Amino acid sequence: MRVEISFNFFIFLAFDFKIYWEIRMFVGHYGVGFAAKKIDNKPSLGTIFFAAQFIDLLWPVLLLLGIEHVQIDPGNTAFTPLNFSYYPFSHSLLGVLVWGALFGFAYYLIKKEWKTSLLLGVLVLSHWVLDLFTHRPDLPLVPWSEIKVGFGLWNSVIFTIIVELGIFFAGVYFYLTSTKAINKKGSVGLWSLVVFLTIIYFMNVFGPPPESEGPLAYVGLSQWLIVAWGYFIDPKKFIGNKFFTVGRS
Ligand SMILES: [Zn+2]
Repeated sequence: MRVEISFNFFIFLAFDFKIYWEIRMFVGHYGVGFAAKKIDNKPSLGTIFFAAQFIDLLWPVLLLLGIEHVQIDPGNTAFTPLNFSYYPFSHSLLGVLVWGALFGFAYYLIKKEWKTSLLLGVLVLSHWVLDLFTHRPDLPLVPWSEIKVGFGLWNSVIFTIIVELGIFFAGVYFYLTSTKAINKKGSVGLWSLVVFLTIIYFMNVFGPPPESEGPLAYVGLSQWLIVAWGYFIDPKKFIGNKFFTVGRS
């Protein structure tokens, strides 16, 4: 079957060329980002992805510095072979509240748009809320406490796929109904991203676990590609104190 061939081809690309997309491309976070455009069209989709994925972009840096730790542990939950054993600075509730406040504040300093700043801060926090539903109890409330939370949606592969793809495609729907493509970047660029994320997502679900922890951090950093893709699809020019639409309006 044609579909199978192309799917296997992507599996081949990912695993034989050791492009470890195993970092878990959790598409729910991107779904929340897409949906945020319904609330506020001012920030670029790239900035929105940056906020919604902020703690997962910070996490690989802390892994590389040896500050946070992860182990490969097939069966840790049905959905992910990763044991997030120690990530109090990127993934504790208190940590995320601080990162969200800093993110919003930094945006305010640059753009002086307090409503958008608030939305971006909330988007940083939204990542943790989504993680709270999916992770097993491994998310600390505060860095120094042993109290960890997580509702464990990942214990069911099928429910994870339904909920996560549901959030993702609902987000894409909200994005489509609240913006309009004004050039190829805004149309072809968007659809290729949606297809790309969906393929990567299924590769994560059905692909083998990574061979070692080593490349995980580098793969985590590769998520910057998605942030850059967001800026490419939906660039905004900020002149004076007004936003000018370049890719989608
Ligand atoms: Zn996360």
